[in-house]
Amino acid sequence: MKKNFPIIILLISLSLIGMIYIQWNWIITMVEVKQDELKTKLFDVTSTVGGELIHFKETANPGLKNLQIRPSFGFRPYDKLQLELMKPSTLAQNFTKDDINIKLRKAFNSHDLRDTKFEFCISSESSNQLSSSIYEIKSTNFLPAIEDTEHNLSEIMPLLAENSDLESPEPVETLSVVISDYKSVVMNQVRLKIIGVVFFTLVIIAAFYVTVSTILRQKKLSEIKNDFINNMTHEFKTPLATISLAVDALRNEKVIHDQQKSEYFSGIIKEENRRMNKQVEAILQAALLEKQELQFNLQPVHVHSIIRDVLENFQLQLEEKQGKIDLQLNARNDLLEADEVHFTNLISNLVDNAIKYSKDQILIKITTHNSSRNWIMRIEDNGIGMNKETQRRIFEKFYRAHTGNIHNVKGFGLGLSYVKTVVDAHHGKIKVESTVGKGTVFLLEIPLKK
Ligand code: ADP
Repeated sequence: MKKNFPIIILLISLSLIGMIYIQWNWIITMVEVKQDELKTKLFDVTSTVGGELIHFKETANPGLKNLQIRPSFGFRPYDKLQLELMKPSTLAQNFTKDDINIKLRKAFNSHDLRDTKFEFCISSESSNQLSSSIYEIKSTNFLPAIEDTEHNLSEIMPLLAENSDLESPEPVETLSVVISDYKSVVMNQVRLKIIGVVFFTLVIIAAFYVTVSTILRQKKLSEIKNDFINNMTHEFKTPLATISLAVDALRNEKVIHDQQKSEYFSGIIKEENRRMNKQVEAILQAALLEKQELQFNLQPVHVHSIIRDVLENFQLQLEEKQGKIDLQLNARNDLLEADEVHFTNLISNLVDNAIKYSKDQILIKITTHNSSRNWIMRIEDNGIGMNKETQRRIFEKFYRAHTGNIHNVKGFGLGLSYVKTVVDAHHGKIKVESTVGKGTVFLLEIPLKK
């Protein structure tokens, strides 16, 4: 698992990056294809409408060609007038702006470009380069639209009848059609697909994140459980070895007949037995915590008396280590809704830790005071302290700082997670402040009984 994990992460990351890269390219290609498609459609639309107009010209204006056969005969004045009359009529004379608009709209609709905005113009351009175009029919925004080649797509088609003469001096009419803001037309077509791609990519990234964090959590949990098993083995091995030695000693002839020595060794067995019992209790309690089966019987309790009782139990241990406790129970109101047993364990765990993680001269200062709604206890020691990472994690089950794992200080890493559960059940808060090498302060805040 340890070796495979980085490989799994690497493979998943690589495939994610590859997939995102391919998706990105796919989107760009899709946009380009859609732009080309739009250009083709614009060409088709222009050709369709242009074709209709050419057809109209062919059927409605057969005249000019017939006239041009005769220029060598010369014109008399009335011939000129006749020529004027026989001149083919322009499209503007036959169609209004609306007619062209309707034709174009119909063509756009039939090419699946229903809401596309367009501009158009029919102009006539003389073959003489110098003369400028004459706009016969023009939509309102045609001129700015055709000039903006960056944002707009345009198509220009000369309306030349099949039988028209390119040499003719008559100006050539052209149909120009412009699609305004063609990029947003393309974007409208591909938007849903892009949203889909982005959404599913995000889903895959989220799934990847959840998978990795679950694997990491499991890994951490298995490390913690290993530590726990190591600690537990150690915790049981020591008393078992002591008991075994004491039993051997009790079997010794000299000891059997020596009342005092027998009592001494059986006392050791009893004491080790008590210690092992305590540890089994702690493990059972942890199992209850796991199943959230702890029962709390909250009743009005004066907690200062609980603190005094707990400290009395630690008196012997403190005397042995020449430790001191500075107790200042300043809170005027110490009546809380509390579970006596669990609250006793809570205080006991905090004091126990203050002694366990101490240095040579133990000094524990316990003070209490009230805020308007709470009872507050501060328990301060001058022990080994802990770093920020430890402070963040001490309330996690099985967590022990690394100094704790060296086995110079015994424990399962369960005490403070139990403390946290008890504090939560009392609707309180617990905070820790600590400096490595200097000591630790636990701040406990529990609401007063109303
Ligand atoms: P245990 O004491 O059994 O290891 P706890 O849950 O009581 O488990 O404590 C978790 C860890 O928090 C300890 O291993 C220790 O590293 C750290 N810790 C707790 N109390 C103190 C303290 N007063 N001073 C320094 N470190 C402490």
